[in-house]
Amino acid sequence: MAIFDLIPLSTIQLHEQVASDFIRDLGKTVTLHYPAIRITCPNCYGGYTYNGTGPNPFPQGQPCSICGGTNNIAQAPESEDITCMVYMNPKDFIQYQDLTMQLQDGLMQIRGKMSDLIKVQRCNSCTVVAGIEGIQTMVWQKLGEAIPYGVRLQSEFLQTWKRKP
Ligand SMILES: [Zn+2]
Repeated sequence: MAIFDLIPLSTIQLHEQVASDFIRDLGKTVTLHYPAIRITCPNCYGGYTYNGTGPNPFPQGQPCSICGGTNNIAQAPESEDITCMVYMNPKDFIQYQDLTMQLQDGLMQIRGKMSDLIKVQRCNSCTVVAGIEGIQTMVWQKLGEAIPYGVRLQSEFLQTWKRKP
């Protein structure tokens, strides 16, 4: 019988709730940056035909004045803030996905709520405001996959990041 089988589920749930409150109260703000998405040009059909409703009419057969003839434009990249525990020193890391990580500098680990994991998976970088002055912002890229974390219910996750050069 595993030790967890001896602990009532209500106790485990209480622990998970406390852990969640801990992140909420002591966590730091991490800004996730999502990749830019390309959307269909609002001004043309196929890049060389004005669509009749777009903001910049252009002569038939000329490249569209908005998209240059590609028929799609980049939407501004979005970002979103989450609150999580941030460990800047590898000695404080809770768990390593890979033992070689211990030897590397420029690593950071976050411990977040499972409900935020899908956002972390979608982003391609994040920023953490470092230092008391709050003026130096470091950009981080994911190193490996997130791993579930939590006593039993896996209500949290760990994600390790490498500082972007
Ligand atoms: Zn266009």
